[in-house]
This record gives sequence, C-alpha cells and structure tokens, in this order.
Amino acid sequence: MHELSLCQAIADTVSERAEGQRVDRVEVRIGHFRQVVPDSLLFSWELITDGTELAGCELVIDHVPAVISCQACGQESTLDMPILLCTGCQSSDVRLVSGEELLIASIDRTGERVS
Ligand SMILES: [Zn+2]
Repeated sequence: MHELSLCQAIADTVSERAEGQRVDRVEVRIGHFRQVVPDSLLFSWELITDGTELAGCELVIDHVPAVISCQACGQESTLDMPILLCTGCQSSDVRLVSGEELLIASIDRTGERVS
C-alpha cells in the first residue's frame, strides 16, 4: 500500500525533526500527480503513529493541483486528469508547473512552528 510507506517516511522525518519534543500537527503538501488518496493517507497515519511518540498528532493534507504551462501558446492549465496536454491549443509541448510535490510543509511542536 502506497500510502502506508508514504506515512512511514513522513513519520520518520517528523520524528527526526521533532528532536524529542511533542508534535501536535504536521502539514504535508501533496501534488495531484502523486495520486494519494487523502482518506487512505489519514488512515495510514493513524496506523503508523499509533503507540509511537507521534500518536495523536494531526496530519493536515494540502492538495496541490496539477498545473502545466504550454510552450506553444503560453497558457497555464490546471489538470483533472494526468494527461499532459494544453487545454487551450491541445499542444503536448508543455512544462509541469506543479503537481509532483511531496513534502512536509510544516511541523508544529508544542508552542512553536518549525518549517
Ligand atoms: Zn497551448
């Protein structure tokens, strides 16, 4: 399960950066192309953190839309489907602007925010 290994990676990074302090909230930015199912990710997060120092820590998912920029006509398109075609002129000569993100945006330790 894709989400489970993803959560494990997030938990490992958060634990490392928390430096032994309690973490209340973790915000992750996940691009559309990552095809992560939010509910599944939250469920996995509970499984992974249960019984660890991160138990009870809230996982907040910031979904980043897939945006492409067309080299032919210059238009930026937001994609619903992972098909790299300009919605303006149908050109496939496009550059990916966003949608492949997978990063931890912030970690809230008790009383302070670490970015
Ligand atoms: Zn175009």
